[in-house]
Amino acid sequence: MNRDSTIVAIATPAGTGAIAVIRLSGKDAIPICAKVFMSTSQAKQLSEQPAYTIHYGKLIDGDIIIDQVLVSLFKAPHSYTGEDIVEISCHGSTLIQQQILELLIRNGATLAEPGEFTLRAFLNGKMDLSQAEAVADLIASSSEAARRVAIEQMRGGFSNKLKNLREKLLHFISLIELELDFSEEDVEFANRQELHSLIESIGKHIYQLIESFQLGNVIKNGIPVTIAGKPNVGKSTLLNRLLNEERAIVSEIEGTTRDSIEDVIHINGMLYRFIDTAGLRPTTDTIESLGIERTYIKISQALIILMLIDSRDNVDDNIKEIKRIANKLEANQKMLVLINKIDLAEPSHVTELKQSLFKKIPSISLIEISAKHGINMDMLTNEILKKSIPTSSEGSSTIITNTRHYEALLKAHENLIRVEKGLKDSIPGDLLAMDIRQVIHYIGEITGDITTDEVLGSIFSKFCIGK
Ligand code: GDP
Repeated sequence: MNRDSTIVAIATPAGTGAIAVIRLSGKDAIPICAKVFMSTSQAKQLSEQPAYTIHYGKLIDGDIIIDQVLVSLFKAPHSYTGEDIVEISCHGSTLIQQQILELLIRNGATLAEPGEFTLRAFLNGKMDLSQAEAVADLIASSSEAARRVAIEQMRGGFSNKLKNLREKLLHFISLIELELDFSEEDVEFANRQELHSLIESIGKHIYQLIESFQLGNVIKNGIPVTIAGKPNVGKSTLLNRLLNEERAIVSEIEGTTRDSIEDVIHINGMLYRFIDTAGLRPTTDTIESLGIERTYIKISQALIILMLIDSRDNVDDNIKEIKRIANKLEANQKMLVLINKIDLAEPSHVTELKQSLFKKIPSISLIEISAKHGINMDMLTNEILKKSIPTSSEGSSTIITNTRHYEALLKAHENLIRVEKGLKDSIPGDLLAMDIRQVIHYIGEITGDITTDEVLGSIFSKFCIGK
């Protein structure tokens, strides 16, 4: 990438819209635009106009008028990229967008690479690396919770604190290194006690961030919910009801949902990834038994398991399967037993079934529903919400959603433990300094204080062109 170049890209989505925005960034952004822009008031020179003003006029290619446009001016360093920026709002025809893009390239601009505007913002110190990554997350956010986490990170949520802790470590390193210069005199400039409490507080903070990763990922990618139960109990019907569309195959023939089908829905701003599964029953059919095997894997991956039973069944028809799943549940997994097809059962039978289930498993969560007729669906979605993550922590500023950050934090934590041990064993200053440097390094990887072209390349290549 040549940072002296002036880049250009279409900033709005591909296709036809009412208007489209084409963005230029770089030292020649304004002169390049001025070459092809003619203001309605003929005397107006674009290059002489103040920053943060909008100008109406036409874009011309020689004698040809391409479009009537609005041109907005931003000047370095107070712009998104920290460079001069021109945004051209034109009419949204794809042909016009292409013609303007070509016109600007012919007049000296270079087509931007994916994420290059945000990369420049990072390189010009407008944001740190984790904030730049949050821009991509924000654009991709598809649930209220994911949006909240991304905007918090973009505002510098956790990176400001990490930067601050890193500064303090850098201060200690300089003191320890000073000690090394005076090694013959056996002096101690870096107070070991203070260093120890700093290491402890950094350790605590980093551990919290590491812990938040699972929650963060769930918020970003959706809470996995598995629908399990015997064939024909109504799993596909329930999924369809929840998704409000005919996504899974509903059939009278037992064992038709042989593979797993996934889809996502939003409930109160949380994203759920619903997984329909093959029915659970003994089978000799090879394809079906593969599906059943996969069902158990899906159950182990889910945070919420909806176990469907038929309201006309007796307790003994299901208790073995329910217990089998219940016994395998991890601490973070929750099961909800749904007594389906209540429209077909005698109410007294349903009451009896519920009582027997409570007797066998006192902690069981039960809801009576009819997937086909949509009975008690509100109760079901409320219960799903309740079984999800406590909503109070969703918007917390200390939630990690990015695998790159997670890995760097794990490494920083590993090295913090070594520093702590080193302090306890009173190891020599030079060895202590080495471990502290590692911690500083890994924290710096998150904020972008330490980075390589390779890392930047892989982060920004995931952005769209124009961002
Ligand atoms: P799956 O094998 O568990 O996925 O079961 P399906 O969703 O394919 O449903 C099997 C049959 O039960 C279909 O004919 C559905 O229409 C019917 N069914 C599902 N839920 C209900 C319900 O609540 N009430 C009634 N009456 N029929 C249902």
